[in-house]
Amino acid sequence: MLKVFPVLCRENYMDNYAYIIIDDKTNTVAVIDPSEADKVIEKCNELKVCPQYILNTHHHFDHVDGNLVLKEKYKAKIVCNKADMYRIEGADIGVGAGEEFALGEAKAKIIDVSAHTQGHILYYFYENKVLFTGDTLFNLCVGGIFEGTEEEMFRALAKIKSLPDDVMFYPGHEYTLGGAGFAFQYNKGDEDIKKYLKRARERLVQGLPVAPVSLGEEKKCNPYLEAKTLQDFKCL
Ligand code: ZN
Ligand code: FE
Repeated sequence: MLKVFPVLCRENYMDNYAYIIIDDKTNTVAVIDPSEADKVIEKCNELKVCPQYILNTHHHFDHVDGNLVLKEKYKAKIVCNKADMYRIEGADIGVGAGEEFALGEAKAKIIDVSAHTQGHILYYFYENKVLFTGDTLFNLCVGGIFEGTEEEMFRALAKIKSLPDDVMFYPGHEYTLGGAGFAFQYNKGDEDIKKYLKRARERLVQGLPVAPVSLGEEKKCNPYLEAKTLQDFKCL
């Protein structure tokens, strides 16, 4: 099994999520997008784990800022898209689209979703049905387009939509409430979105992340996944 522990970073201004993930068969540990080293170290201490890998989805500072401190402290290897190695300091292992990265026995397929940035990748642990979406897919919204086109983002989301409904996804930020108003309007307040928001609020008041949500739920409620054509997508 793959265990996932969210770590909220940059609380109340950027609300990033780093994730500590553990393949419990082999006790292999990685940190996804360590936004703040201190917060991640605190959680690693609590879990009594030492990450061997740091996995980055893309090069933005709020996803890689903790890289070098954690690399030094844990002697961890930094993994990122091959194409991003030149701009992620200290990168050790480059992975390419379609390749796999093995965290012990948990295998992740690398999916290229260039649009938020060129070279943005997703880590899809297909046997565990767990997907890390970085700044491409958030709860009820999507990431801004910094280094791509609307068409690239639409295609990137189509790749996510093609994955099974029972895959649980973990985004790079807690942005649910930011997307909620528009998603509610877009879905005309139907039962699915009401249920989604009720659960989201219950989680947030308890200080829990809204993640994970299944892709099936997200496909029903996220306007950017609901858009069927590029034209519809551009109109959002
Ligand atoms: Zn970003
Ligand atoms: Fe970000």
